[in-house]
Amino acid sequence: MAILDLVRKNIVSLKPYSSARDEFSGKGEVFLDANENPSGQYNRYPDPHHRDLRQRISQLKNMPAEQIFLGNGSDEVIDLVYRIFCEPGKHKVLLFPPTYGMYEVSAAVNDVEVVRCPLNDQFQVDLPAMKQAIQDELIRVAIICSPNNPTGNDMEEDAVLELLRSFSGIVLMDEAYIDFSHRPSWTGRLSDFPRLIVMQTFSKAWGLASVRMGMAFASEEITEIFRKVKPPYNISGPNQQIVLGRLNDVESVQSDIQIILEEREGLRAALECISSVKKVFPSDSNFILVEIEDANRLYDYLVERGVIVRNRSSILRDALRITVGTRSENERLIQTIQDFYR
Ligand SMILES: *Cc1c(COP(=O)(O)O)cnc(C)c1O
Repeated sequence: MAILDLVRKNIVSLKPYSSARDEFSGKGEVFLDANENPSGQYNRYPDPHHRDLRQRISQLKNMPAEQIFLGNGSDEVIDLVYRIFCEPGKHKVLLFPPTYGMYEVSAAVNDVEVVRCPLNDQFQVDLPAMKQAIQDELIRVAIICSPNNPTGNDMEEDAVLELLRSFSGIVLMDEAYIDFSHRPSWTGRLSDFPRLIVMQTFSKAWGLASVRMGMAFASEEITEIFRKVKPPYNISGPNQQIVLGRLNDVESVQSDIQIILEEREGLRAALECISSVKKVFPSDSNFILVEIEDANRLYDYLVERGVIVRNRSSILRDALRITVGTRSENERLIQTIQDFYR
């Protein structure tokens, strides 16, 4: 199916907002066009096209700037995908639970019905079930998270390929944790799969969760539609500056990732030594999912002692999701868990 056949009719015909700064070309010197206060540090509207940022990210990812879209966190990208491709009350999304909760919340906001294809006991895509599910022609979008949250593992390449080949809608691949994984990003396959959107974020490995900046990589045709629908100034000027600064210090990001990966293995070893731990799941990310006796009570005990992990027992029996912290934070966690079972 052509991309435009997947886009809602009102979006196809939408004329985007034209901001004051879009209405002229050339180099302005006196700006009396946007009703700004003429003085101050933050008085001017930011670049709605995020040109400098996309240029830098383009070099880093070795990808044309036209194929890069920036959102106010990945949350904005997810919302835009629903708003662009799913007619409210009609089209559906295919999810692979247990996975990131925002996909469901954002679907509910947009009145998009969720079809669930649960991961198998290895937390991989159940291929026969997936093939069955995509028979439903009202499914317009499939969201797959790899490495997956909260399970921590990468999805097998063959399963993703199968989804990309057999599903005729949009595949949104969430790679929030890609920087911790050893596999290559699916951005390398965008030219093979025109209906693929790859999403990444500055919130995890890049250490900028507070800044709210998500990236989407897709065909130029798709990123153009994203740009048309987004609020003109979706990324603030200070936030653009902060991310640009971080992009000039890629080495420190790399060294942070290295430290986190080493700490993760230390944390894994320590958890495996605790007899109440039933299973430490494999992780390609910066967190570890554990199955542990009495998880709900342990969770409360940890909270009382100021150590906050994520209790996932409502979706997976006795499961806690533990983010890798600093050495001393990880040690304090292990100590507190040992105190609980003593
Ligand atoms: C943390 C996370 C994100 C990041 O969301 P932002 O809005 O960019 O902070 C995206 N997807 C998953 C699965 C996550 O766990």
